[in-house]
Amino acid sequence: MQELSNIKTRKITLGTKEWADSNVNCYIGCSNNCRYCYAKNMAIRFKRKTEDTWKYMEPNQKNIDKKYGKRRGRVMFPTSHDITSESLEGCLTVLKKLIDADNNVLITTKPKLNCVMEICDLTEKVKNFIQFRFTITSMNDKILKFWEPGAPLFKERFESLKYAYRRGFKTSISIEPFLDKDPLPLIKILLPYVTESIWIGKMNYIKANDIPSNFRKDYNSIREVNSKNNLKAIIEKLHIFPKSLIHLKDSIENYLSH
Ligand code: SF4
Repeated sequence: MQELSNIKTRKITLGTKEWADSNVNCYIGCSNNCRYCYAKNMAIRFKRKTEDTWKYMEPNQKNIDKKYGKRRGRVMFPTSHDITSESLEGCLTVLKKLIDADNNVLITTKPKLNCVMEICDLTEKVKNFIQFRFTITSMNDKILKFWEPGAPLFKERFESLKYAYRRGFKTSISIEPFLDKDPLPLIKILLPYVTESIWIGKMNYIKANDIPSNFRKDYNSIREVNSKNNLKAIIEKLHIFPKSLIHLKDSIENYLSH
């Protein structure tokens, strides 16, 4: 079996700190409405949103209007919502301020092609300071529709990746959470269009109670996908890819080491 440490050895950091030094958000709520969303759980817990209102994206006008200076290290944008048709205008305003201040920006999104095209137009001249991190968690639209009901389906995400790649932007992928029992076929398809890295992570927030009986199969299935045996089997097969490109999220390393 390929040792975990052969894939990547580094200090353990969690959450968005694994990828960037700071983050920026400018909307509350997210129309993708993923069933595993941590930001949604937090918003509901602190009564900023409800289960029903999370999918409506409200501009955080203060964060859209404020000035952004040069920050230390890389800025991740956004982290608690996505760049969608509803949020595009505000997101482009904030992104422009971030790049005008010479920031290095990691743009994370379940990509919608029209949004990616607009971002590429806006940042064409500073593309060296931009890296896309496209979240593509499965090739199976049925699975995507269940877990990420408002997000683009596979074809649009894949087209977005190819578009950014062909325009000469730095591209990377987040397969977090991976939703297919075996994510290797997905990695093989995406790899030719990735200039930087592919990150694999597990689902960390799986609802345990009040699961409607017609959804139980889906929840049981993701628990199997997340099982230690399955994770170990995947890691064993990852050696066929260049080690410099494939990274496991710390959540997997932590889970397997306990
Ligand atoms: S795209 Fe991200 S922020 Fe939006 S609902 Fe899904 S997990 Fe939450």
